[in-house]
Amino acid sequence: MRMRRFRQADWDEPLIFELGWEGRAGFSVPAVEPEVRDEVGEVEELIPINILREEPPRLPEVSEVEVLRHYIHLSQMNYGVNSSGIYPLGSCTMKYNPVINEVLASNPALTEIHPDQDEATIQGILELLYRLKIWLQELTGMEDGSLEPAAGAQGEFLGNLIMRAYHADRGELERRREVIIPDSAHGTNPASAAMAGFKVVEVPSGEDGCVDLEALKSVVGEGTAGLMLTNPNTLGIFESRISEIAEIVHRAGGLMYYDGANLNALMGRCRPGDMGFDIVHLNLHKTFSTPHGGGGPGSGPVLVKAFLSDYLPVPVVVYRDGLYRLSYDRPKTVGKVHGYYGNISPILKAYAYILSMGGEGLREASEIAVLNSNYLAQRLKDVRGLSLPYAPGVPRKHEFVLSASKMAEETGVRALHIAKRLLDYGIHAPTIYFPLIVPEALMIEPTETEPLEALDRLVEAFEEISSLAYSKPEEVQSSPRNTTVGRLDDVKASHPRTMCLSYRMLRKTR
Ligand SMILES: *Cc1c(COP(=O)(O)O)cnc(C)c1O
Repeated sequence: MRMRRFRQADWDEPLIFELGWEGRAGFSVPAVEPEVRDEVGEVEELIPINILREEPPRLPEVSEVEVLRHYIHLSQMNYGVNSSGIYPLGSCTMKYNPVINEVLASNPALTEIHPDQDEATIQGILELLYRLKIWLQELTGMEDGSLEPAAGAQGEFLGNLIMRAYHADRGELERRREVIIPDSAHGTNPASAAMAGFKVVEVPSGEDGCVDLEALKSVVGEGTAGLMLTNPNTLGIFESRISEIAEIVHRAGGLMYYDGANLNALMGRCRPGDMGFDIVHLNLHKTFSTPHGGGGPGSGPVLVKAFLSDYLPVPVVVYRDGLYRLSYDRPKTVGKVHGYYGNISPILKAYAYILSMGGEGLREASEIAVLNSNYLAQRLKDVRGLSLPYAPGVPRKHEFVLSASKMAEETGVRALHIAKRLLDYGIHAPTIYFPLIVPEALMIEPTETEPLEALDRLVEAFEEISSLAYSKPEEVQSSPRNTTVGRLDDVKASHPRTMCLSYRMLRKTR
Protein backbone atom coordinates (compact mmCIF):
# COMPACT_ATOMS: atom_id res chain seq x y z
CA MET A 1 0.00 0.00 0.00
CA ARG A 2 1.33 3.41 -0.86
CA MET A 3 -0.19 5.19 2.13
CA ARG A 4 1.51 8.51 2.54
CA ARG A 5 1.97 9.38 6.16
CA PHE A 6 0.84 12.78 7.17
CA ARG A 7 3.75 14.99 8.14
CA GLN A 8 3.21 17.68 10.72
CA ALA A 9 5.56 19.96 8.80
CA ASP A 10 3.03 19.94 5.95
CA TRP A 11 0.67 22.10 7.95
CA ASP A 12 0.43 25.48 6.39
CA GLU A 13 -1.72 26.58 9.30
CA PRO A 14 -0.82 26.62 12.96
CA LEU A 15 -0.94 23.31 14.77
CA ILE A 16 -4.04 22.81 16.81
CA PHE A 17 -3.41 19.39 18.27
CA GLU A 18 -1.30 19.13 21.35
CA LEU A 19 -0.91 15.39 21.12
CA GLY A 20 0.52 13.29 18.33
CA TRP A 21 3.72 12.48 16.59
CA GLU A 22 4.41 11.52 13.03
CA GLY A 23 4.22 7.81 12.52
CA ARG A 24 2.44 6.97 15.72
CA ALA A 25 -0.76 4.99 15.30
CA GLY A 26 -3.39 3.31 17.41
CA PHE A 27 -4.13 0.54 14.96
CA SER A 28 -2.34 -1.93 12.75
CA VAL A 29 -3.81 -3.29 9.58
CA PRO A 30 -2.44 -6.55 8.25
CA ALA A 31 -0.61 -6.25 4.95
CA VAL A 32 -2.63 -7.28 1.94
CA GLU A 33 -1.63 -10.75 0.81
CA PRO A 34 0.19 -10.63 -2.56
CA GLU A 35 -2.33 -13.02 -4.15
CA VAL A 36 -5.23 -10.79 -3.09
CA ARG A 37 -3.49 -7.72 -4.40
CA ASP A 38 -2.87 -9.37 -7.74
CA GLU A 39 -6.52 -10.17 -7.95
CA VAL A 40 -8.12 -6.89 -6.88
CA GLY A 41 -5.33 -4.39 -7.52
CA GLU A 42 -4.00 -1.59 -5.32
CA VAL A 43 -6.30 -0.27 -2.62
CA GLU A 44 -6.39 3.13 -4.31
CA GLU A 45 -7.75 1.50 -7.43
CA LEU A 46 -10.65 0.04 -5.49
CA ILE A 47 -11.86 3.43 -4.28
CA PRO A 48 -13.81 5.58 -6.74
CA ILE A 49 -11.54 8.39 -7.87
CA ASN A 50 -14.01 11.12 -6.93
CA ILE A 51 -13.93 10.20 -3.26
CA LEU A 52 -10.24 9.35 -3.04
CA ARG A 53 -8.39 11.76 -0.77
CA GLU A 54 -5.55 13.69 -2.30
CA GLU A 55 -4.08 14.34 1.09
CA PRO A 56 -4.37 12.30 4.24
CA PRO A 57 -6.88 13.63 6.79
CA ARG A 58 -5.47 16.20 9.19
CA LEU A 59 -5.69 14.17 12.33
CA PRO A 60 -3.24 13.79 15.16
CA GLU A 61 -1.18 10.64 15.02
CA VAL A 62 -1.51 9.01 18.37
CA SER A 63 -1.14 5.61 19.92
CA GLU A 64 -4.08 3.71 21.37
CA VAL A 65 -2.94 4.37 24.92
CA GLU A 66 -2.68 8.09 24.20
CA VAL A 67 -6.19 8.17 22.77
CA LEU A 68 -7.60 6.31 25.75
CA ARG A 69 -5.83 8.53 28.24
CA HIS A 70 -6.92 11.64 26.39
CA TYR A 71 -10.62 10.79 26.40
CA ILE A 72 -10.70 9.39 29.89
CA HIS A 73 -8.91 12.49 31.12
CA LEU A 74 -11.45 14.71 29.32
CA SER A 75 -14.32 12.75 30.87
CA GLN A 76 -12.85 13.36 34.31
CA MET A 77 -12.37 17.10 33.90
CA ASN A 78 -16.10 17.53 34.55
CA TYR A 79 -17.40 18.54 37.92
CA GLY A 80 -19.99 16.01 38.98
CA VAL A 81 -22.12 15.54 42.06
CA ASN A 82 -21.21 11.84 42.02
CA SER A 83 -17.51 12.45 41.39
CA SER A 84 -16.45 15.79 42.84
CA GLY A 85 -18.59 17.22 45.60
CA ILE A 86 -21.37 19.57 46.57
CA TYR A 87 -23.38 21.11 43.76
CA PRO A 88 -25.09 23.95 45.60
CA LEU A 89 -27.19 25.40 42.76
CA GLY A 90 -30.41 26.86 44.12
CA SER A 91 -33.74 26.25 42.37
CA CYS A 92 -32.32 23.20 40.64
CA THR A 93 -32.15 20.45 43.25
CA MET A 94 -28.95 18.77 42.07
CA LYS A 95 -29.42 15.58 44.04
CA TYR A 96 -27.04 12.67 44.12
CA ASN A 97 -27.81 10.07 41.50
CA PRO A 98 -28.37 6.68 43.10
CA VAL A 99 -26.78 3.82 41.17
CA ILE A 100 -29.93 1.72 41.55
CA ASN A 101 -31.73 4.23 39.29
CA GLU A 102 -29.21 3.62 36.53
CA VAL A 103 -29.57 -0.13 36.94
CA LEU A 104 -33.32 0.08 36.40
CA ALA A 105 -33.19 2.70 33.65
CA SER A 106 -30.67 0.70 31.62
CA ASN A 107 -32.43 -2.64 31.95
CA PRO A 108 -32.78 -4.00 28.38
CA ALA A 109 -36.25 -5.31 29.25
CA LEU A 110 -37.25 -1.65 29.39
CA THR A 111 -34.84 0.01 26.98
CA GLU A 112 -35.38 -2.40 24.12
CA ILE A 113 -39.15 -2.13 23.86
CA HIS A 114 -40.78 0.25 21.42
CA PRO A 115 -43.76 2.53 22.12
CA ASP A 116 -45.47 1.29 18.94
CA GLN A 117 -45.57 -2.28 20.25
CA ASP A 118 -48.90 -3.90 20.99
CA GLU A 119 -50.17 -3.02 24.48
CA ALA A 120 -50.28 -6.67 25.48
CA THR A 121 -46.48 -6.92 25.02
CA ILE A 122 -45.58 -3.85 27.12
CA GLN A 123 -47.66 -4.47 30.23
CA GLY A 124 -44.62 -3.97 32.48
CA ILE A 125 -43.82 -0.42 31.46
CA LEU A 126 -47.50 0.53 31.32
CA GLU A 127 -47.98 -0.70 34.87
CA LEU A 128 -44.95 1.28 35.93
CA LEU A 129 -46.30 4.48 34.32
CA TYR A 130 -49.70 3.83 35.88
CA ARG A 131 -48.25 3.33 39.35
CA LEU A 132 -45.86 6.26 39.21
CA LYS A 133 -48.72 8.59 38.34
CA ILE A 134 -50.70 7.35 41.34
CA TRP A 135 -47.69 7.84 43.64
CA LEU A 136 -47.20 11.38 42.36
CA GLN A 137 -50.89 12.11 42.90
CA GLU A 138 -50.56 10.79 46.43
CA LEU A 139 -47.47 12.92 47.13
CA THR A 140 -49.07 16.10 45.81
CA GLY A 141 -52.68 15.58 46.89
CA MET A 142 -54.00 15.63 43.34
CA GLU A 143 -56.43 13.34 41.54
CA ASP A 144 -55.24 12.81 37.98
CA GLY A 145 -52.29 13.67 35.78
CA SER A 146 -50.02 13.17 32.79
CA LEU A 147 -46.37 12.15 32.59
CA GLU A 148 -45.98 13.60 29.08
CA PRO A 149 -44.21 16.96 29.54
CA ALA A 150 -40.44 16.80 29.08
CA ALA A 151 -39.53 19.48 31.64
CA GLY A 152 -40.91 21.77 34.29
CA ALA A 153 -41.26 24.55 31.73
CA GLN A 154 -43.28 22.31 29.44
CA GLY A 155 -45.44 21.26 32.39
CA GLU A 156 -46.10 24.95 33.05
CA PHE A 157 -47.08 25.42 29.42
CA LEU A 158 -49.42 22.43 29.61
CA GLY A 159 -50.85 23.74 32.90
CA ASN A 160 -51.61 27.05 31.21
CA LEU A 161 -53.24 25.26 28.27
CA ILE A 162 -55.41 23.40 30.77
CA MET A 163 -56.39 26.74 32.39
CA ARG A 164 -57.33 28.04 28.95
CA ALA A 165 -59.38 24.96 28.11
CA TYR A 166 -61.19 25.13 31.46
CA HIS A 167 -62.13 28.80 31.08
CA ALA A 168 -63.03 28.32 27.41
CA ASP A 169 -65.32 25.45 28.39
CA ARG A 170 -67.16 27.77 30.76
CA GLY A 171 -67.37 30.51 28.18
CA GLU A 172 -65.08 32.79 30.20
CA LEU A 173 -61.85 32.74 28.22
CA GLU A 174 -62.74 36.00 26.47
CA ARG A 175 -62.46 37.95 29.68
CA ARG A 176 -60.05 35.79 31.70
CA ARG A 177 -56.83 36.83 29.99
CA GLU A 178 -54.51 37.35 32.96
CA VAL A 179 -52.16 35.07 34.84
CA ILE A 180 -50.77 36.53 38.04
CA ILE A 181 -47.16 35.70 38.95
CA PRO A 182 -45.06 36.94 41.90
CA ASP A 183 -41.85 38.89 41.20
CA SER A 184 -39.81 36.12 42.87
CA ALA A 185 -40.89 33.54 40.26
CA HIS A 186 -38.63 31.56 37.97
CA GLY A 187 -38.46 33.07 34.49
CA THR A 188 -40.17 30.09 32.90
CA ASN A 189 -43.45 30.98 34.69
CA PRO A 190 -44.18 34.23 32.81
CA ALA A 191 -42.75 32.72 29.62
CA SER A 192 -45.13 29.73 29.78
CA ALA A 193 -48.17 31.88 30.56
CA ALA A 194 -47.33 34.23 27.69
CA MET A 195 -46.79 31.31 25.29
CA ALA A 196 -50.25 30.02 26.17
CA GLY A 197 -51.64 33.41 25.19
CA PHE A 198 -52.14 34.99 28.61
CA LYS A 199 -51.16 38.44 29.77
CA VAL A 200 -48.74 38.25 32.71
CA VAL A 201 -49.51 40.41 35.75
CA GLU A 202 -46.66 40.67 38.24
CA VAL A 203 -47.41 40.85 41.94
CA PRO A 204 -44.68 42.14 44.31
CA SER A 205 -43.28 40.34 47.34
CA GLY A 206 -43.68 41.91 50.74
CA GLU A 207 -40.87 42.54 53.24
CA ASP A 208 -41.33 39.02 54.55
CA GLY A 209 -40.45 37.65 51.12
CA CYS A 210 -43.98 36.32 50.59
CA VAL A 211 -46.72 37.43 48.22
CA ASP A 212 -48.05 40.83 49.29
CA LEU A 213 -51.73 40.06 49.99
CA GLU A 214 -52.98 43.62 49.52
CA ALA A 215 -51.17 43.85 46.21
CA LEU A 216 -52.65 40.49 45.22
CA LYS A 217 -56.19 41.59 46.06
CA SER A 218 -55.72 44.70 43.96
CA VAL A 219 -54.90 42.73 40.80
CA VAL A 220 -57.23 39.73 41.20
CA GLY A 221 -60.59 40.09 39.52
CA GLU A 222 -62.87 39.21 36.65
CA GLY A 223 -59.92 39.05 34.24
CA THR A 224 -57.96 36.53 36.34
CA ALA A 225 -57.37 33.16 34.70
CA GLY A 226 -55.09 31.95 37.47
CA LEU A 227 -52.11 32.43 39.74
CA MET A 228 -48.78 30.63 39.35
CA LEU A 229 -46.94 30.14 42.61
CA THR A 230 -43.84 28.32 43.85
CA ASN A 231 -44.06 27.17 47.46
CA PRO A 232 -41.67 27.42 49.20
CA ASN A 233 -40.82 30.31 46.91
CA THR A 234 -37.45 30.88 45.30
CA LEU A 235 -36.20 32.63 48.45
CA GLY A 236 -36.75 29.30 50.20
CA ILE A 237 -39.54 30.85 52.29
CA PHE A 238 -42.83 29.03 52.80
CA GLU A 239 -45.84 31.12 51.75
CA SER A 240 -47.55 30.81 55.11
CA ARG A 241 -50.72 32.60 53.97
CA ILE A 242 -51.21 30.13 51.15
CA SER A 243 -54.80 29.21 52.15
CA GLU A 244 -55.79 32.86 52.07
CA ILE A 245 -54.09 33.34 48.69
CA ALA A 246 -55.96 30.34 47.28
CA GLU A 247 -59.23 31.66 48.61
CA ILE A 248 -58.70 35.09 47.04
CA VAL A 249 -57.93 33.56 43.64
CA HIS A 250 -60.72 30.95 43.77
CA ARG A 251 -63.31 33.44 44.88
CA ALA A 252 -62.53 35.47 41.76
CA GLY A 253 -62.95 32.35 39.60
CA GLY A 254 -59.24 31.83 38.91
CA LEU A 255 -57.21 28.63 39.15
CA MET A 256 -54.21 27.96 41.37
CA TYR A 257 -51.07 26.64 39.63
CA TYR A 258 -48.25 25.11 41.69
CA ASP A 259 -44.70 25.24 40.36
CA GLY A 260 -43.32 22.09 41.98
CA ALA A 261 -39.62 22.73 41.41
CA ASN A 262 -39.19 23.17 45.17
CA LEU A 263 -41.01 20.03 46.26
CA ASN A 264 -37.78 18.71 47.76
CA ALA A 265 -38.52 21.10 50.62
CA LEU A 266 -41.76 19.48 51.70
CA MET A 267 -42.42 16.11 50.09
CA GLY A 268 -43.99 13.72 52.53
CA ARG A 269 -44.80 16.55 54.90
CA CYS A 270 -47.46 18.66 53.20
CA ARG A 271 -49.15 18.66 49.82
CA PRO A 272 -49.98 21.36 47.28
CA GLY A 273 -53.38 19.72 46.75
CA ASP A 274 -54.21 20.44 50.39
CA MET A 275 -52.99 24.02 50.07
CA GLY A 276 -55.66 24.76 47.48
CA PHE A 277 -53.74 24.23 44.24
CA ASP A 278 -55.65 22.92 41.21
CA ILE A 279 -52.73 22.17 38.86
CA VAL A 280 -49.22 21.05 39.82
CA HIS A 281 -46.10 20.33 37.84
CA LEU A 282 -43.22 18.36 39.27
CA ASN A 283 -39.65 18.28 38.00
CA LEU A 284 -38.79 14.59 38.26
CA HIS A 285 -35.19 15.41 37.31
CA LYS A 286 -34.93 17.67 40.36
CA THR A 287 -36.97 16.21 43.20
CA PHE A 288 -36.65 12.59 42.16
CA SER A 289 -32.93 12.37 41.38
CA THR A 290 -32.21 12.30 37.67
CA PRO A 291 -28.87 13.88 36.69
CA HIS A 292 -29.65 17.01 34.69
CA GLY A 293 -26.50 19.12 34.62
CA GLY A 294 -26.10 18.86 30.87
CA GLY A 295 -29.67 19.94 30.18
CA GLY A 296 -31.67 16.77 30.05
CA PRO A 297 -33.57 14.66 29.41
CA GLY A 298 -36.06 15.85 31.98
CA SER A 299 -39.60 15.09 32.95
CA GLY A 300 -42.25 17.51 34.19
CA PRO A 301 -45.47 15.60 34.97
CA VAL A 302 -48.62 17.64 35.49
CA LEU A 303 -51.09 16.63 38.18
CA VAL A 304 -54.59 18.07 38.46
CA LYS A 305 -57.71 17.99 40.59
CA ALA A 306 -60.48 15.77 39.19
CA PHE A 307 -62.49 18.66 37.71
CA LEU A 308 -59.62 19.33 35.26
CA SER A 309 -59.15 15.69 34.26
CA ASP A 310 -60.93 16.05 30.92
CA TYR A 311 -58.32 18.46 29.55
CA LEU A 312 -55.22 16.32 30.16
CA PRO A 313 -53.17 15.17 27.16
CA VAL A 314 -53.72 11.77 25.59
CA PRO A 315 -53.04 8.91 25.80
CA VAL A 316 -53.79 8.03 29.41
CA VAL A 317 -52.72 4.70 30.87
CA VAL A 318 -55.83 2.99 32.23
CA TYR A 319 -56.36 -0.41 33.82
CA ARG A 320 -59.30 -2.32 32.41
CA ASP A 321 -60.24 -6.02 32.31
CA GLY A 322 -56.92 -7.12 33.75
CA LEU A 323 -54.82 -5.18 31.22
CA TYR A 324 -53.06 -1.83 31.19
CA ARG A 325 -54.17 0.12 28.12
CA LEU A 326 -53.51 3.42 26.43
CA SER A 327 -56.74 5.34 26.27
CA TYR A 328 -57.33 8.14 23.78
CA ASP A 329 -60.89 8.64 24.96
CA ARG A 330 -60.73 12.21 26.23
CA PRO A 331 -62.79 14.43 23.92
CA LYS A 332 -61.81 17.67 25.65
CA THR A 333 -58.06 16.99 25.74
CA VAL A 334 -55.73 19.89 25.00
CA GLY A 335 -53.81 17.47 22.76
CA LYS A 336 -50.39 15.91 22.96
CA VAL A 337 -47.38 17.86 24.23
CA HIS A 338 -44.75 15.17 23.59
CA GLY A 339 -44.24 12.18 21.33
CA TYR A 340 -45.57 8.94 22.80
CA TYR A 341 -45.67 9.08 26.63
CA GLY A 342 -42.90 11.51 27.56
CA ASN A 343 -39.24 11.00 28.39
CA ILE A 344 -39.08 7.51 29.79
CA SER A 345 -35.61 7.44 31.35
CA PRO A 346 -36.20 10.13 34.03
CA ILE A 347 -39.59 8.54 34.67
CA LEU A 348 -37.89 5.19 35.36
CA LYS A 349 -35.36 6.87 37.64
CA ALA A 350 -38.08 8.65 39.60
CA TYR A 351 -39.90 5.34 39.94
CA ALA A 352 -36.79 3.61 41.27
CA TYR A 353 -36.04 6.52 43.60
CA ILE A 354 -39.51 6.64 45.13
CA LEU A 355 -39.64 2.88 45.49
CA SER A 356 -36.21 2.67 47.13
CA MET A 357 -36.85 5.60 49.50
CA GLY A 358 -40.41 4.75 50.49
CA GLY A 359 -42.77 7.32 51.97
CA GLU A 360 -40.77 7.66 55.18
CA GLY A 361 -37.52 8.00 53.26
CA LEU A 362 -38.85 10.82 51.08
CA ARG A 363 -40.08 12.65 54.15
CA GLU A 364 -36.71 12.25 55.85
CA ALA A 365 -34.85 13.41 52.74
CA SER A 366 -36.78 16.65 52.70
CA GLU A 367 -36.27 17.16 56.44
CA ILE A 368 -32.51 16.80 56.11
CA ALA A 369 -32.47 19.03 53.01
CA VAL A 370 -34.19 21.73 55.07
CA LEU A 371 -31.87 21.19 58.03
CA ASN A 372 -28.76 21.44 55.84
CA SER A 373 -30.06 24.59 54.21
CA ASN A 374 -30.82 26.33 57.52
CA TYR A 375 -27.45 25.36 58.97
CA LEU A 376 -25.68 26.92 55.98
CA ALA A 377 -27.93 29.98 55.91
CA GLN A 378 -27.26 30.73 59.56
CA ARG A 379 -23.50 30.35 59.20
CA LEU A 380 -23.14 32.17 55.89
CA LYS A 381 -25.31 35.17 56.74
CA ASP A 382 -22.69 36.21 59.32
CA VAL A 383 -19.79 36.13 56.86
CA ARG A 384 -18.48 39.68 56.43
CA GLY A 385 -20.12 41.41 53.46
CA LEU A 386 -22.96 38.89 53.12
CA SER A 387 -26.55 39.08 54.37
CA LEU A 388 -29.77 37.09 54.28
CA PRO A 389 -32.33 39.54 52.93
CA TYR A 390 -36.10 39.18 53.55
CA ALA A 391 -37.04 38.04 57.03
CA PRO A 392 -33.62 36.80 58.22
CA GLY A 393 -35.26 35.41 61.35
CA VAL A 394 -37.66 33.16 59.44
CA PRO A 395 -36.38 29.62 58.85
CA ARG A 396 -35.69 28.76 55.23
CA LYS A 397 -36.80 25.56 53.58
CA HIS A 398 -34.53 23.61 51.20
CA GLU A 399 -32.72 26.67 49.83
CA PHE A 400 -31.86 30.25 50.74
CA VAL A 401 -30.64 33.38 49.00
CA LEU A 402 -27.76 35.50 50.25
CA SER A 403 -26.93 38.98 49.06
CA ALA A 404 -23.36 40.12 48.50
CA SER A 405 -24.38 43.74 47.92
CA LYS A 406 -22.55 45.00 51.03
CA MET A 407 -19.33 43.32 49.90
CA ALA A 408 -19.82 44.71 46.39
CA GLU A 409 -20.17 48.24 47.75
CA GLU A 410 -17.26 47.99 50.16
CA THR A 411 -14.74 46.05 48.08
CA GLY A 412 -15.98 45.82 44.49
CA VAL A 413 -16.15 42.04 44.83
CA ARG A 414 -19.50 40.93 43.42
CA ALA A 415 -21.56 37.74 43.58
CA LEU A 416 -20.08 36.72 40.22
CA HIS A 417 -16.52 37.01 41.58
CA ILE A 418 -17.39 34.95 44.67
CA ALA A 419 -18.90 32.24 42.46
CA LYS A 420 -15.76 32.16 40.28
CA ARG A 421 -13.46 32.09 43.30
CA LEU A 422 -15.31 29.09 44.73
CA LEU A 423 -14.18 27.13 41.66
CA ASP A 424 -10.59 27.52 42.87
CA TYR A 425 -11.60 25.58 45.97
CA GLY A 426 -12.92 22.75 43.81
CA ILE A 427 -16.48 23.70 44.78
CA HIS A 428 -19.23 24.15 42.22
CA ALA A 429 -20.63 27.67 42.12
CA PRO A 430 -24.11 28.42 43.45
CA THR A 431 -26.82 30.06 41.34
CA ILE A 432 -26.16 33.79 41.06
CA TYR A 433 -28.29 36.85 40.23
CA PHE A 434 -31.53 34.93 40.74
CA PRO A 435 -34.16 35.58 42.05
CA LEU A 436 -34.19 39.07 40.61
CA ILE A 437 -35.59 40.65 43.78
CA VAL A 438 -32.28 40.13 45.63
CA PRO A 439 -29.35 42.33 44.54
CA GLU A 440 -26.04 40.44 44.14
CA ALA A 441 -27.91 37.19 44.82
CA LEU A 442 -26.18 33.92 45.73
CA MET A 443 -28.76 31.15 45.84
CA ILE A 444 -27.78 27.97 47.63
CA GLU A 445 -29.41 24.55 47.94
CA PRO A 446 -27.15 21.99 49.61
CA THR A 447 -29.63 19.03 49.36
CA GLU A 448 -29.96 16.20 51.87
CA THR A 449 -26.95 14.16 50.88
CA GLU A 450 -24.15 16.56 51.83
CA PRO A 451 -22.51 15.69 55.15
CA LEU A 452 -21.61 18.28 57.78
CA GLU A 453 -17.95 18.37 56.66
CA ALA A 454 -18.97 19.39 53.15
CA LEU A 455 -21.17 22.17 54.51
CA ASP A 456 -18.38 23.37 56.81
CA ARG A 457 -15.94 23.34 53.93
CA LEU A 458 -18.28 25.56 51.95
CA VAL A 459 -18.53 27.97 54.89
CA GLU A 460 -14.74 28.07 55.25
CA ALA A 461 -14.37 28.81 51.55
CA PHE A 462 -16.84 31.70 51.84
CA GLU A 463 -15.00 33.04 54.91
CA GLU A 464 -11.64 32.94 53.16
CA ILE A 465 -13.06 34.57 50.04
CA SER A 466 -14.60 37.30 52.16
CA SER A 467 -11.36 38.09 53.95
CA LEU A 468 -9.47 38.11 50.65
CA ALA A 469 -12.13 40.45 49.23
CA TYR A 470 -11.44 42.89 52.06
CA SER A 471 -7.64 42.62 51.76
CA LYS A 472 -6.84 41.93 48.09
CA PRO A 473 -10.07 42.31 46.11
CA GLU A 474 -8.27 42.04 42.74
CA GLU A 475 -7.34 38.47 43.55
CA VAL A 476 -10.97 37.50 43.96
CA GLN A 477 -11.98 39.50 40.91
CA SER A 478 -9.49 37.70 38.67
CA SER A 479 -10.47 34.19 39.77
CA PRO A 480 -10.54 31.36 38.91
CA ARG A 481 -6.88 30.44 38.65
CA ASN A 482 -6.78 26.73 39.40
CA THR A 483 -9.26 25.60 36.79
CA THR A 484 -8.50 24.10 33.38
CA VAL A 485 -9.85 27.17 31.66
CA GLY A 486 -9.81 30.60 33.24
CA ARG A 487 -12.42 33.30 33.07
CA LEU A 488 -14.72 32.76 30.13
CA ASP A 489 -16.36 35.55 28.22
CA ASP A 490 -20.00 34.82 29.12
CA VAL A 491 -21.35 36.51 26.02
CA LYS A 492 -18.91 34.99 23.56
CA ALA A 493 -19.20 31.55 25.12
CA SER A 494 -22.86 31.28 24.19
CA HIS A 495 -22.87 33.29 21.00
CA PRO A 496 -23.38 31.10 17.93
CA ARG A 497 -20.88 33.08 15.87
CA THR A 498 -18.04 32.44 18.25
CA MET A 499 -18.96 29.07 19.67
CA CYS A 500 -16.52 26.38 18.50
CA LEU A 501 -18.17 23.04 18.07
CA SER A 502 -15.41 21.26 16.16
CA TYR A 503 -11.67 21.50 15.65
CA ARG A 504 -12.26 22.87 12.16
CA MET A 505 -14.14 25.83 13.61
CA LEU A 506 -11.41 26.34 16.16
CA ARG A 507 -8.90 26.70 13.35
CA LYS A 508 -11.07 29.30 11.65
CA THR A 509 -11.51 31.43 14.70
CA ARG A 510 -7.88 31.37 15.75
C1 LIG B 1 -36.16 24.62 37.38
C2 LIG B 1 -37.34 25.46 37.63
C3 LIG B 1 -38.34 25.61 36.66
C4 LIG B 1 -38.22 25.06 35.25
O1 LIG B 1 -38.09 23.70 35.20
P1 LIG B 1 -37.28 22.95 34.01
O2 LIG B 1 -37.48 21.53 34.33
O3 LIG B 1 -35.87 23.41 34.09
O4 LIG B 1 -37.94 23.36 32.73
C5 LIG B 1 -39.46 26.34 37.01
N1 LIG B 1 -39.58 26.93 38.21
C6 LIG B 1 -38.63 26.81 39.16
C7 LIG B 1 -38.82 27.47 40.49
C8 LIG B 1 -37.46 26.09 38.89
O5 LIG B 1 -36.50 26.00 39.81
